Amino acid sequence: MKKRILLVAISALTLLSISAFSPALNNKSANVDINSEFVECKYGQCYATAKSTQKRCKHCVSHKGDTYCWQHD
Ligand SMILES: [Zn+2]
Repeated sequence: MKKRILLVAISALTLLSISAFSPALNNKSANVDINSEFVECKYGQCYATAKSTQKRCKHCVSHKGDTYCWQHD
């Protein structure tokens, strides 16, 4: 009887750890996209600060070597 309880406890713990870790792994990329002010761009992100949000501009520069987007040029 004692052995069976132990087995149930171990499988319950295993299930718990799997369910605790898998959503975190699945949502990792989604969370980064939503919260990050940094955008993945081909040539880099605009370095200007957006007037409306006071945060870094989320536009991408259109030419290699540029530091500002078409809006902040
Ligand atoms: Zn910009």
